[in-house]
Amino acid sequence: CGITACLRADGSLDPLLTGLKRLEYRGYDSAGIALQNGHGIGLVKCAGEVELLCEQVDEKRLRGTVGIGHTRWSTHGPPTDCNAHPHTDERGTVAVVHNGIIDNYAALKDGLQRRGHHFASDTDTEVVPHLIEEELDGGASNVEAFRAAIATLDGTYAIAAIFDEEQAIYATRMGSPLVLGEGDDEWFLASDVPAFVEYTDRVRYLHDGDFVRITAGGVELTDADGYAVERPLETVDWDP
Ligand code: GLU
Repeated sequence: CGITACLRADGSLDPLLTGLKRLEYRGYDSAGIALQNGHGIGLVKCAGEVELLCEQVDEKRLRGTVGIGHTRWSTHGPPTDCNAHPHTDERGTVAVVHNGIIDNYAALKDGLQRRGHHFASDTDTEVVPHLIEEELDGGASNVEAFRAAIATLDGTYAIAAIFDEEQAIYATRMGSPLVLGEGDDEWFLASDVPAFVEYTDRVRYLHDGDFVRITAGGVELTDADGYAVERPLETVDWDP
């Protein structure tokens, strides 16, 4: 169970998969990544080893400058390809990875299903992309939709999301770890520093309730109410 995300000007998203391998020590039963390629979201996920995921990523020749990755430790739904993250809404507008447990997912899922949403997995996580989709349909911007969806969740989570038409990563946490890594014109997010330490040693540890939006222009860090917050930039001394 780990999350990776990165946005890099040079276009190679190797750190996503490298990061997932570095997080293997946390334990997992499935893995997946989603990339934003300028035309939409490309997604590969499967039950089993990260190595298997890497083979499938090669075959599909996925490309992009923004991406998210996940290793899953199943809590809701067995370890199958379908239940592996990332999860998307029905249109493929948004892709979401999540570590933790959404305690009120059953009530949220019930409401969504009654409003016509169809679910592709048994996970608690899948409510998140559907909630975001519903906000977008109501006229919300990506930022607003992400915040509004997260505001309805109870439980523990580190969540990262990408949208089909924006070169950006959205993320937040509550009770699960999430660290931001800052390189030169490249940014990383992960559950733990080893995921990206070979790319940068400059990190900011996010706090519960923090929201981060990463674009090629930089990082916006805000609290749950939308106010800017500062988290200290630290230099870590880890061997890659
Ligand atoms: N509860 C989610 C699931 O079962 C996420 C598990 C995790 O932290 O990897 O899919």
